[in-house]
Order: sequence, then structure tokens, then C-alpha cells
Amino acid sequence: MIELKNITKSYKMGDMTVQAVNDISLKIEQGEYLAIIGASGSGKSTLMHILGFLDRPDTGTYTVFGEDVSKLKDDKLAILRSNIAGFVFQQFYLLPRTKAIENVELPLIYAGKKGLKKTAHEKLEQVELFNRDGHTPGELSGGQQQKVAIARALVNNPYVIFADEPTGNLDSKSKEEIMKTLEDLNKQGKTVVLVTHEKEIAERTRRIITVFDGKIISDKRIKEEPVRTAGSKILNAKELLARAKTNIGEALIMDHIPQALKSMVSHKMRTVLSMLGILIGVGAVIAMMALGKGAEDSIAEKLASLGSNLLMVRPGGRTVGGVSSVGYTRLTMEDAEAISQLKEKVKAVAASVRGNGQTAFENKNWSTSIQGAGFKYEQIRAAKPEFGRFFTEEEQKARTKVAVLGVTVVEELFGTSNPVGKVIKINKINFAVIGVLPRKGPDQDDIIIIPVTTAMYRLLGKKYVDSIDVEATDIETMEEATEDIRQVIIKRHNLKKKQYNSFQIRNMADVQETMRSMTKTMSTLLGSIAAISLLVGGIGIMNIMLVSVTERTKEIGLRKAIGAQEHDILFQFLIESIVMTVIGGVIGILLGVVVAMALASFAGWVVKITTYSIILSTVFSTAIGLIFGIFPARKAAKLNPIEALRFE
Ligand code: ADP
Ligand code: MG
Repeated sequence: MIELKNITKSYKMGDMTVQAVNDISLKIEQGEYLAIIGASGSGKSTLMHILGFLDRPDTGTYTVFGEDVSKLKDDKLAILRSNIAGFVFQQFYLLPRTKAIENVELPLIYAGKKGLKKTAHEKLEQVELFNRDGHTPGELSGGQQQKVAIARALVNNPYVIFADEPTGNLDSKSKEEIMKTLEDLNKQGKTVVLVTHEKEIAERTRRIITVFDGKIISDKRIKEEPVRTAGSKILNAKELLARAKTNIGEALIMDHIPQALKSMVSHKMRTVLSMLGILIGVGAVIAMMALGKGAEDSIAEKLASLGSNLLMVRPGGRTVGGVSSVGYTRLTMEDAEAISQLKEKVKAVAASVRGNGQTAFENKNWSTSIQGAGFKYEQIRAAKPEFGRFFTEEEQKARTKVAVLGVTVVEELFGTSNPVGKVIKINKINFAVIGVLPRKGPDQDDIIIIPVTTAMYRLLGKKYVDSIDVEATDIETMEEATEDIRQVIIKRHNLKKKQYNSFQIRNMADVQETMRSMTKTMSTLLGSIAAISLLVGGIGIMNIMLVSVTERTKEIGLRKAIGAQEHDILFQFLIESIVMTVIGGVIGILLGVVVAMALASFAGWVVKITTYSIILSTVFSTAIGLIFGIFPARKAAKLNPIEALRFE
């Protein structure tokens, strides 16, 4: 059945070459029960790995049922492994935290077979392991674990069982049970090749091959081969090979999904930590970016409502270190009047004064800011009342005691009832409420607007105005309008050249630009913090993935040893990584949205969740999860099973 001719295998260790198998030729027939014996390091395992298609010889030929298999590609060897040979290792190599029955099923999956549970269960009974299907290796004795491993080796109905020191890690009672199991298997017709260093064990077989330094030094038949009965008759070579070929199946992608999920469930901590990294990264990016974008938008909105063709004339120059070095030109109502005469370039003018006032209505009191404004304020500052009306030019001229209230003042003095038509006291003087200002934001709603003249001469006792708002006719002629206004002020106040800076004219477009760039900076800053947390999340994922490489490499070695091909391994890992990143990502998105909304409702911040942030964070963390999940898996999947199993 099996024939080795002049097989060699050497290992390079630095500049030393170890000749592990040195020119071995060997023939094994179907139904044999033989032992390979020799001292430790004599090359027994290396020989077994070659026999079991786990490793390839350097030179020599290996024929199975007359076919040369020594030059076959890795994936073809995997198919042979899963159909012809079953391997039992000294260290059992069961998947940890995985039920016995699921361990036994594995080779069936990679061979693309169905009816897994039933076959696996039958094999467990065949090795006389009853009622332990649901136990994990941690819940089984050494002997029981080795029985699971033998059942796993049997599950694809192989022609040969290769057992490398199967009793090496067992106590004498378990040793006896395992030997009996192997003997029974041989009685049922399986070829059994056993590696051992113990003479008593070797003597239980029918043929002993002794190796020393990679060479066979003796090959003795110690018992006659039994005469086969009909039940255990040997199929002829052609039949066997045909059966092996038709038996060869391929696992489908679907078959890997349960494997991936099981592996995730059996390593809960690793899975949760990986997901956590993605979750936090994605969540942080979404919440932070929502905050930045929200702030940007709300400021932009406020600025837009001011109108971009607004100019503001103010007394005083730019102060340096709190000291204005260029004097202080106070502005008057007459200045405002003179500016409004620049008909071509100026559409509307409104002078303002500001102060504080103690207001009262019935038994309620409220302290607020008072702004005296020109009647054009309504137009210039987009302040058309929600209820009632703004004051008129006549009312301004007549210094009438009328007031337009901000929403906060209304709420404090009137609650939910309509204030229009009521009379309130401002600093003990009666004012008729004629309107309610539109809502503009918490910081801008705590205000009362009254005619500027009333404010100056009847309430605050001011002779000068604090600022003059000017609406230019056209945004194109803003520069010229600014210059004309300058000349008006200079002329009216007889300013000398060095006093030109004693007042300032600010252009709203400039202010808006400054604010915009400030909010942009803030947004970028928040974005960067988010990016850092995403990166930290990414590093977390990376860490966990790398830490699990050792364990996974062994696991991959095992899966390959029992018949998995390279793409089987990759699919499994790909599915694991995708499931993990998708779950982590989705929870992260939800978390980000929840945090953003919590910030909005508890802190009153404006948030805006952007698709961009969702896409960015999801793509980034998924990429990290995939790269660091797949990269080690790919590397391990390319190793030959023995190298992977030995990986430390
Ligand atoms: P045995 O199973 O008889 O104890 P092995 O087949 O495991 O012996 O090893 C035979 C020789 O080859 C030993 O000298 C061992 O050190 C060497 N060897 C085995 N595997 C490797 C390897 N992967 N790399 C380097 N040397 C190896
Ligand atoms: Mg060995």
C-alpha cells in the first residue's frame, strides 16, 4: 500500500545540518500493525510526518497505492491527509474549549462531508468513549482526550492510523486502554503504524522497525499476519484509490461560518476585547465629529442670520495689551444720522446703546440686558418679532416707552402667557410690551430692546451711542461704503491723522470669516482627538490579534494536520474578523450616536452626525481588524502543519 524509496530529510540549524531521515526505504502493506522504535532524536517523528503527508521529503519517492505523492502541492497533500491517513499525536492537539464531538467533526468539515454529528458520535462510541460528547478537553482525562483524538483520526475512515508516541503522556491504566483501542482498530482491518521508544509497547505489534540516526537498522517481523476474514478483507489497490478519489470533497464557505462562530465563542475574552477596540474607536469618532460639525453648523447659522453686508462702527481703536494708544472717538446719534445720508452705499442705519435693567411684572422680577436700538434694527438684524411688532420711527423720535422682549425675559416674567399689550417696569419706569423677539439662542434671548432715544434720555442717561450698525446696499461696494463712513466720522469729529484709529469699522464678512476659521479649527481638533482614539482602538485590536498568533498558529497547524487547506483557514479567519469588526462597528456607531445625543440633550450642545464620520471610522477600524486578523492567519496557513504545530 505504502512504499518509501531512499527518503531523506534534513534540517538546517545555523550552519549545522541535521540529517533527521537518512536514506530510508520501507514498504507497508494494508492491515499491518507495526511499531517504529528508536531513541529520542533518532528521526521517528520526522519519518512519521512524511508517512502521514504532514511533511515532504527532501529526496526520494513516496508512493501510495502505486501513485507517486512526493511532489504533490500542499493542498493536494491536505486532501490525501484527510482521506487516507489519520494522525494521533503524543500531545493530543485537541481544540481547547471545544466539545469532544466538535473536535471529532473537524476532519469531516474539511473533507466537505455531511451528517457530522452522527458520524462523530459513532466514532466516539467505537473508541469506547461514552457520554462524553459534550465535554471539552479541559473536562477530560489524558486517556479520554487521546481517545477523542483517535476518534478524530478515524472519522474520515482512513486506511492508515499513524500514532506518534500516543501513550507518551499517559498513566499506565490509560496507556493500556489506548493500546487496546489501537489493537481493536487493527483487528477491524485498519493499518496501524505506531511510534514509540518503549520496547514493551513495540512488542505488542507484529513488526518492529528500529531506527538509529535517521537510518533503519533492523526490520523484524515478530508475529505472523493473521488470516483475514470476510469482514476485514483488504480491498485491492485500484479500488482503494478510486474510493479515495471519489471520497475527496471540499468544504464550502458556508461550512466555515459555524467554525468561525465557535472559535469566537470559545475565546470570549479575545473576541470581546477585539470588538471593544473597534467599538470605542468608531464610537469616539462619530461622537466627536458630530460635536465638531454641530458647533460649526450652529455658529455658521447664527452668523448667516446677521447678514454679510453688515458694518459695525464702534468707538475706540484696537487695543494692545488693554491700552488703547490712539484715543477714543465717541459716537453720537448725529453721527448715525450723517451716515444714513450716504444714500447710495448705505441702506439702513441703527445706533445702539447697552445697559442693564431690573424688570418687574406683577410679583415677578428679572434682571436683564437692555439694548436701545434704532427702529431699523429689526431689518438689519433680522429681528422681526414672533408676536406683536417692532417700534416705529415715530416712536423712536417721540422717545416712547415701548419694549420688545427676548424669549428668556418673557419666560421669566410671563411664563407661557402672552406679554403683548401688558405693561412692565424697567428700573421702575413703565414700558408697554409691543412684541416678542424671535428665538436666537440662549445667550441672545435674555434681552429687552427699546428705542435708542428712550434708552439714552429716559432710562440709561447716556449721551453717546455704543455702536452704529450699518447695512450696506451691496456686498460689492462694502469697501467703498466703509471708506465713506470713515470720512464722515473723521470730518464730523475733526480727527487728525494719528487719531484715525480712534474708532473702528468692522465688516461682518470679516468677522464671519474669522469665526468660521475658528470653528473649523475646533472641528479639526475634535476630529484629531477622535482619530487618536481610533488609532488607539486600532492598536488595541492589533495587540490582541498579535497576542493570539501563537495560539492560533498551533490551532492552524492542527486544522491543517487534519485536512484543512490554505483557503479553508483563510476563509475561517476572514469570517471571524468580519463578524467581529461588523459587530464592533455597528455597536460603535450606535454608541457614538447615543453619546452624541446624550451630549445634545444633557449639555445642550448642538450635534450633527455625519455619514462621513460613520464611513471613515468603519472603514478604518475594519481595515485594521482585517489586516491584523488576516495577516498572521495567512502567514500561519502557509506553514506546513508540523511547523505550525511546533510554533512557540
Ligand atoms: P524522534 O521523534 O525520534 O525523537 P525527530 O524526528 O523528532 O526524532 O528528530 C530527529 C532529529 O531532527 C533530531 O535531531 C531533531 O533535533 C531534528 N529535528 C526535528 N525537527 C526539526 C526541526 N523542525 N528543525 C530542526 N531540527 C529538527
Ligand atoms: Mg518524536
